[in-house]
Amino acid sequence: MYPAPFEYHAPDTVKEALALLDKYQDDCKVLAGSQSLVALMKLRLAQPAHLIDLRKLPGMVGISESGGTLQIGALTTHRAVESSQLVRSRLPVLAEAAAQIGDAQVRNMGTIGGSLAHADPAADYPAVGVALDASVQIVSARGERSLKVDQLITGPLSTTLAPGEILTQVRVILPTGRTGSAYEKLPHSASHFAIVGVAAAVALDAKGNVQASRVAITGLASKVVRAGWVEQALQGKAPDAAALKSAAARAAERLELRADLIGSADYKANLAAVYTERALKRAVARALEK
Ligand SMILES: Cc1cc2nc3c(=O)[nH]c(=O)nc-3n(C[C@H](O)[C@H](O)[C@H](O)COP(=O)(O)OP(=O)(O)OC[C@H]3O[C@@H](n4cnc5c(N)ncnc54)[C@H](O)[C@@H]3O)c2cc1C
Repeated sequence: MYPAPFEYHAPDTVKEALALLDKYQDDCKVLAGSQSLVALMKLRLAQPAHLIDLRKLPGMVGISESGGTLQIGALTTHRAVESSQLVRSRLPVLAEAAAQIGDAQVRNMGTIGGSLAHADPAADYPAVGVALDASVQIVSARGERSLKVDQLITGPLSTTLAPGEILTQVRVILPTGRTGSAYEKLPHSASHFAIVGVAAAVALDAKGNVQASRVAITGLASKVVRAGWVEQALQGKAPDAAALKSAAARAAERLELRADLIGSADYKANLAAVYTERALKRAVARALEK
């Protein structure tokens, strides 16, 4: 199916893009890597009269480190994140999640900002973003604001982005000390979206016990879920195999799992536990290497 007719705009500056957004309000959509939006338009689930392409805007692509923070331009592709030496050395969890998105074509076109703004309940970056306590920079005609990823995503394909707002950058404060994080995913064999994806970040204290952790699960609910109950089960514990297994066993505790073509609710609860345990084990192993 072809999309409904629309007018295409390719502004050269953020100011121009914001003016277009202000002019067309609910009648427009911004376009980044096109991997999700164009499919929705072809299915006529989205019918914007105006499409505002962000790809010519300056300063929206690239990965840098400044003042202990990793900064990733919103239009940076999954492939660029996956292959960035900076990301691989400073925050490997992000590169390993990027490498598992879709296929090479999707990774070469799709962008980190587009993925977070699209908020697919089975997307990978939202889980990693929540586990890393990442934030996003947002600009509009009203000014700039910053938001944590877990405040950004409110439901399936729903965010707190207001009309007229553009996501410009993703920021992650680089963890220091004995910290590690990892992402484990069971991909759907056709789409590669997560049937389940678990991102875990762990900080160990001087004695090697869990000082803090963040665990986020994608694919099993209407939006990414922070599994605070797993984190509580780990708090202060020595992160040995038994402790990790017992905390991970609680992964599905507060998820409302439903049977579908993928499997039964029990099967999904088991997936949540298994993938949480794997992510925690690798996160702890990375923390212990430091
Ligand atoms: C075959 C296939 C397989 C896929 N597999 C996976 C997978 O395994 N894991 C996964 O996580 N994802 C997967 N995806 C989705 C992919 O990661 C997309 O790239 C991503 O969801 C959207 O990014 P985009 O840059 O293409 O955004 P677009 O499609 O251009 O836009 C998506 C939405 O976000 C909005 N938007 C985009 N950028 C911004 C911005 N900077 N500010 C404000 N709003 C913005 C748009 O208006 C639109 O509503 C897959 C997609 C396809 C087609």
